[in-house]
Amino acid sequence: MAEQEYDVIVVGASFGGCVAGKVLAEKGLKTLIVERASVPGEKIVSGTGLPPTVFLELPWLMEAPFERPITGLVTHFLKRGQVQTTVEVKCPMPIAFGIYCRPFISWLAEQAVKAGAKLMTSTVATDVIKERGFVKGIVTDRGEELRCPVLIAADGMWSLIGIKAGIRKKVAAEDIMNGIWLDFIMPSKEDLDQALGGDNLMMFWDPAGEMLPPHGIVGYFGVFPCEKSFHFGIGTVISHLAEKRINYDDLYSRFFQIDYWKKHFGKAKLRSRMWRPYPIYASLDREQKGNDRTFGNGIMVIGDAAGFEATSSGAGIHTAMISAKMAAEVAADALAEGDPSAAFLKRYEERWKSSTIAREISDYSRKDISRHAGNEEQMKRSILEVYAMPLMTLSL
Ligand SMILES: Cc1cc2nc3c(=O)[nH]c(=O)nc-3n(C[C@H](O)[C@H](O)[C@H](O)COP(=O)(O)OP(=O)(O)OC[C@H]3O[C@@H](n4cnc5c(N)ncnc54)[C@H](O)[C@@H]3O)c2cc1C
Repeated sequence: MAEQEYDVIVVGASFGGCVAGKVLAEKGLKTLIVERASVPGEKIVSGTGLPPTVFLELPWLMEAPFERPITGLVTHFLKRGQVQTTVEVKCPMPIAFGIYCRPFISWLAEQAVKAGAKLMTSTVATDVIKERGFVKGIVTDRGEELRCPVLIAADGMWSLIGIKAGIRKKVAAEDIMNGIWLDFIMPSKEDLDQALGGDNLMMFWDPAGEMLPPHGIVGYFGVFPCEKSFHFGIGTVISHLAEKRINYDDLYSRFFQIDYWKKHFGKAKLRSRMWRPYPIYASLDREQKGNDRTFGNGIMVIGDAAGFEATSSGAGIHTAMISAKMAAEVAADALAEGDPSAAFLKRYEERWKSSTIAREISDYSRKDISRHAGNEEQMKRSILEVYAMPLMTLSL
């Protein structure tokens, strides 16, 4: 095999790409992971929550660097610019784990490299090589041709590779979300524990729509806790920004005047302001996502690139990693059989379609919330049904 030829090339060294790389390398396959950033994890968000369902598929992740287990959800409803009512749901076990992307993904990349995968950073895959209807590798921004019989696109929601391979469409502007996330630090973990009332995730909703943007994609301010720091933010679809004349700076400064915020989070220091704008796939109808297939001759598409963000919560880390494992296993079988055709790789789509991924991306409950705009009571009920009640069932 020539130097530039691999069994499998994975584009993207994030949650999905690193897991795929590790699983492939452990099977003894010559694996290359190509990442455009100089360091894995240098991407859209720096902190977020990992849904624990992933441990069932990938138990070795329990060794990863976590910041804090999240065992509850505090929902505040605003009225006339203040907290009016609060609903708290507690679970006896974690519903998510707070993580920072940079250390977490760096750790994941290390696992892939330790297993034998080669990691090539600061390299952009600009095109796919196609021969006789089969994807045969990638072209990089340095003009190199890197060849393989099976390519895994783990390149996130824009997925240039999926588009170039002709198996998915571009994302339409009206399907893209935009927002600002702030990273705050408290003087100590105890201060944050006190502000959150424990290991809680906190949401501020505005059911009457007096202050926050229209509901639907993310119509709440969320506090996503790490050990003694937290992420805080809101986002909405791009088309709403112009249509509703949303000014985030104004929105944030009005929010920070809420008495509740000043009392509980007054000690928080702003460390950074991130990724403005950022895209997210959540809450879209499956048809809108424009993903016709997740496989083709010589290629599979995983994670955000395949539209695997849960429609109800926007969570996509676990589905990226679970789909990565499935695609890597199918790739190994295809290579063992000497058949990387779409007819064989279809097994990957069959697998994810009969897994939790299919259920999570076809749940439109979050979208339903936006249908209640203008009906405050119904909106409150829906918010609790979609966001809080599922936590209670988790604890049963
Ligand atoms: C603000 C925000 C908050 C979120 N919060 C949560 C949360 O709390 N819980 C949760 O589960 N999910 C959350 N998500 C979703 C989650 O971040 C994604 O679902 C997840 O990152 C998908 O992982 P992935 O590996 O498929 O793709 P990505 O993480 O998008 O990674 C794609 C990788 O490919 C690289 N890449 C892209 N194009 C190329 C190219 N052409 N050549 C080389 N490299 C390339 C990128 O640099 C990147 O490293 C959030 C998303 C956002 C935006």
